[in-house]
Amino acid sequence: MISVDVARGKVIEDVMPVGAETVSLAQALGRVLAEDVAARVSHPPVTVSAMDGWAVRAQDVAAVPVTLAVIGQSAAGHPFAGSLAAGEAVRIFTGAPMPAGADAVVMQEDSRAEGGHVTLTASSPTGKYVRAAGLDFSDGDVLLPAGTLLGARGIGLAAAMNHPWLAVRRRPRVAVLSTGDEIAMPGEPLGTAHIVGSNGPALCAFVTALGAEPVHLGIARDSRQSLTAMVAAAAGCDLLVISGGASVGDYDLVKDVLAEAGLVQEFYKIAMRPGKPLMFGRLHGTPVLGLPGNPVSAMVCAMLFLAPLLRSMLGLAVDLDTATAVLGRDLPANDARQDYLRAGLTRRPDTGGLVATPFPTQDSAVLSGLTAADCLVVRPPHAAAAIAGESVTVIPLPALW
Ligand code: AMP
Ligand code: MG
Repeated sequence: MISVDVARGKVIEDVMPVGAETVSLAQALGRVLAEDVAARVSHPPVTVSAMDGWAVRAQDVAAVPVTLAVIGQSAAGHPFAGSLAAGEAVRIFTGAPMPAGADAVVMQEDSRAEGGHVTLTASSPTGKYVRAAGLDFSDGDVLLPAGTLLGARGIGLAAAMNHPWLAVRRRPRVAVLSTGDEIAMPGEPLGTAHIVGSNGPALCAFVTALGAEPVHLGIARDSRQSLTAMVAAAAGCDLLVISGGASVGDYDLVKDVLAEAGLVQEFYKIAMRPGKPLMFGRLHGTPVLGLPGNPVSAMVCAMLFLAPLLRSMLGLAVDLDTATAVLGRDLPANDARQDYLRAGLTRRPDTGGLVATPFPTQDSAVLSGLTAADCLVVRPPHAAAAIAGESVTVIPLPALW
């Protein structure tokens, strides 16, 4: 058995980022930039007013009240064509270009217009209520580097930088295969020997949440023939994920079938709980991750191994977010396997600090507990017994996981 860290290192070693494709901004949410994005315009492109009011020369309004001659107006999209001289003001609106000769704006609230004149009751130093050209960014600035995960704000910035489309990493295609003679699809007629398969739908959703594209292969039966036929699908995908059939029972044929198909195995069995029988290798170059069949083990292993693998295929940083919390209850000493306990996460009313309370039932078949969990409490191998209030490392579970 190897440690979680060594195993994860092997999974992400030698991973090549997938290629790029072009998408419109409307399709860019959650995608990862494949290239640096440089501004194709300056923002603002010219010096503009930040207020509704009057464009003036700061020196003309140094002493107030002062009455100036109104020589025109500048509205957003409709700049004033002329230029402003001593004793003159131009009516201006937010976002409108500053007229030549003006260097400050007086707010509308500090003015009284009458006929062709305006009386200003507040001073405005040079640059006041003015946004200089390029205040935000200048043509050529790289504001969104390759590897950026695009959220709504990043898409807004790309738009402001005058990019209607972007080069992003294509979504890795992930073949998801469940195995087991007992597994039925949700909604199928059930015999007494059946259990409803949850790994396929959960893993497909997990893959989608990570920005990849699942290819749900369905359920292979516990026969060499069925498994061999299904495993062939890996050829057209970036990654094959199999759940179940990976232990040492008579019907756990996945390892054998993959070996016959030409799998170069990297490891099998990790010192962790849940999820000891985890297998990883490459089948004619395509990574293959064999997850345990127990639904909790499958999902926890997906979080620890599938997520970093997909993230590195997308060119993203691989580390899971962790936090420090105090234990909400005592825990016994741990054995040789790194433990990932399903736990609730609350905040102390006094300090606001995080409190992680592992659930009493940690059976790897209890999917309800995994779904109710807010985090996983990480218990290193051979950790001593811990009492409530001690600090522990937790992995907060994102809402879409
Ligand atoms: P296995 O690794 O095939 O021995 O499976 C271990 C346990 O996980 C067994 O109790 C299986 O019934 C269960 N299991 C396997 N695949 C699934 C699945 N797709 N959905 C839910 N449970 C599963
Ligand atoms: Mg099985």
